[in-house]
Order: sequence, then structure tokens, then C-alpha cells
Amino acid sequence: MIYKNKYGKVDLLSKQFLQSLKSDKGVIGAKLSGGSDTALLLYLLAKEIQERNLNFSILPYTFLDKPDRNIVAQMIIDEVKSNFPKVSFEDHVYTKLTIPYRDVWNEYAVKLSEEYNIVFFTNAVNRPPPIEILSNKELGKMVASEKALRNYNTKDLEYLGIYDTPEYKPFEHVDKRFTAQVYKDLFLLETLFPLTRSCLNKDTEKTDYHEKPCGECYWCEEKFWAFGQYDAIGY
Ligand SMILES: [Zn+2]
Repeated sequence: MIYKNKYGKVDLLSKQFLQSLKSDKGVIGAKLSGGSDTALLLYLLAKEIQERNLNFSILPYTFLDKPDRNIVAQMIIDEVKSNFPKVSFEDHVYTKLTIPYRDVWNEYAVKLSEEYNIVFFTNAVNRPPPIEILSNKELGKMVASEKALRNYNTKDLEYLGIYDTPEYKPFEHVDKRFTAQVYKDLFLLETLFPLTRSCLNKDTEKTDYHEKPCGECYWCEEKFWAFGQYDAIGY
């Protein structure tokens, strides 16, 4: 289905994409960070599967880059499941994220490919915000670069020997204002959005031991730019 607003257009699971896959059934390996973009993508994948009677199940998987991530991810999964009860989900899986991050991502892609019949992986990477709105402009430049881990792609999988299994990135040509607008248009700002957590600041003082967003890291600034608000707290 086409999602379109003033910030762009995404044809999610387009006919052309589905026809390019090795199979029309199997497992979607859906990366779920706990942030608002992967949460929306999980929601939209489930919506497409249910409304179009597609034969995919969803395997949500999470890299634990903060101590609360598996809990946050599980709450998002439960919310999505309650909206789309006909969609089948594999049990949520997660792993610790240690340096070097890329090795962990690579090893997990191999592991999941061996254990499940993965048809494609998903990744909610999108275009970065304008550098002017960021305090940490160096980090902004790094995140935007091709080398950034978030820009993981099908070639990275092929390098690992995982063939015919694309890394599907439907938001790669839009920025976070697009996904914020989809939240508004689908009335998800009161339901799904408050469950998401984007702040990645590991400073326990600035985040009250991860109970509130710091308001100053890259991810907080990007979320505020797109949504006009930081992570909701106190849920
Ligand atoms: Zn933050």
C-alpha cells in the first residue's frame, strides 16, 4: 500500500518488491530498536500482512544497546499484535550489542538466517535531519555516511554468504518527518508512539537511569525535530 504525505511517498511491500523475493511465504526478520521508526515499520508490516492476506510471519529482533531495550521492544510488539491479531509472530529474540557493533550485526544476521526461513530483513533507516538542527554535527555527518551501521544493506548480507535475502529499507528516501506524519495520519500518536524510546544517551544522570530522554543526544534532537516532542515518559 502507498503511504503518502507532504514529506514523501512509500509504496510498502510493493508488487514489484514482492515479485522479486525468492518466496511469497516465510519469515520477515524485522529489526526493532525500540525507536519510533522501527516500531512504525513493524506496525505497517503487520497491517499489510493482515489486510492483504500475505503469507509472511514476523520475527522481531533487537540489539540491546541500552538496558531497557528488550522491555520497550516487547511492549511495542504487544501493541502491534493487539491491532493485528491475524498476523503470526515468531517469539521476540534479542542479543547484547558489544563493540565492534558491526560484527554483532553480522553474526546475528547469519544466526537468524540459519535458524529461520528468512525471506527478507527489514531496517527502518531513513534520511538524517539537516545538520543545522544537531548539536553534535560530527555525529550527524557520521550517521549520514555510507559507513554508518544503520545503512546496512543487501550487499552486507551477501558478503556474509546470505543470498536472495534483501535488507529491505522502505524509508531510506524519506526523513523522520515522514514517519511522524504517518503516526499522525494513522492515529498512532496516543497508542504506539508513547511506547517508543529513541534516546540513546547512556548517561544515567541525564536520563534518571533511563527513565527519561536526555533531550540533547542526536536521537533526541532528531525526534524533537520530527515530532515536536521527545520520548514520552512515565508510561
Ligand atoms: Zn537523548
